[in-house]
Amino acid sequence: MRIELVNLEHGRADFAHVYQPDELGSFDERVQIVAPVDVTGNVRLERTEVFVNGHIETRAQVECDRCLQRVEMRVDADFDLQYITGTDYESNAAAELTEDDLSVAVFDGQAIDVDEIVKEQVLLAVPTRMLCRPDCKGICPDCGIDKNTGDCACATDEVDPRWAALKNLTGGK
Ligand SMILES: [Zn+2]
Ligand SMILES: [Zn+2]
Repeated sequence: MRIELVNLEHGRADFAHVYQPDELGSFDERVQIVAPVDVTGNVRLERTEVFVNGHIETRAQVECDRCLQRVEMRVDADFDLQYITGTDYESNAAAELTEDDLSVAVFDGQAIDVDEIVKEQVLLAVPTRMLCRPDCKGICPDCGIDKNTGDCACATDEVDPRWAALKNLTGGK
């Protein structure tokens, strides 16, 4: 969904849309949307700046960093974005805007692409490090078995638990 700025009445508009998971395509290898995405918000145009804020809700599956099993999580996020046109960005860049101003995006001055906002917000909501559980054992690098579900006979560096206990007592030396 794109919101054309020329169509805004009095410089503002509310929007609401429910995306089906496949409507957004697959946009990240780690993350898959598994429920409809409910997005609501409003757009406000002030001279050459556009303010977009709203809310998204959905469910996503994210790969565990260690075992690659998919973990389902709820995405429930507010967003508050500011856009300026390319030419304005250049003239402001010298003045005060820095690369750190992550909430400021440059756009073509014509339309706000809600699809892009939704994808971005989903990715922002996903932790950079995802574990299916804190003690996930991961995958054996030799045979590929998921060590949460079974053991393998590969040689590992794992220390006999009895020795590990002793190690702790001696302060890890
Ligand atoms: Zn895992
Ligand atoms: Zn193995």
